[in-house]
Amino acid sequence: METTIFEKIIKKEIPATIVYQDEWVTAFEDINPQAPVHILVVPNEPLATTNELTEKQDLAMGKVVRIASQIAKEKGIAEDGYRLIINCNKHGRQEVFHIHLHLLGGKDLGNMLPNINYGD
Ligand code: 5GP
Repeated sequence: METTIFEKIIKKEIPATIVYQDEWVTAFEDINPQAPVHILVVPNEPLATTNELTEKQDLAMGKVVRIASQIAKEKGIAEDGYRLIINCNKHGRQEVFHIHLHLLGGKDLGNMLPNINYGD
């Protein structure tokens, strides 16, 4: 797999505002925030998409979600709420091919699926 920009951020080869890092997970501010709080939480292991996940990543991915909720609390947005999103491939509009969880909050994010018609 090609080295992505996120792998370089994890290895501190390029700058980013890292808000959390341990042996499994790194979290940093999105360069183009879509909400007052927009953090990307990534497993340090460079897997391209959620399609590549196996049981081996269960602990790391659990930690990705827990660290996102911990950061939400630290940022003071947990009680009002927030949104966690992982995009996958073309239809999910994934741009960076290193699995990442978006933590978005700090304002009312609106209805995520406003245009979906659930009828037949
Ligand atoms: P995706 O569409 O793949 O789910 O989201 C990729 C995200 O990565 C976008 O929100 C984009 O703004 C962010 N991003 C792309 N390049 C960089 C970068 O070099 N640094 C940081 N911090 N975020 C980036």
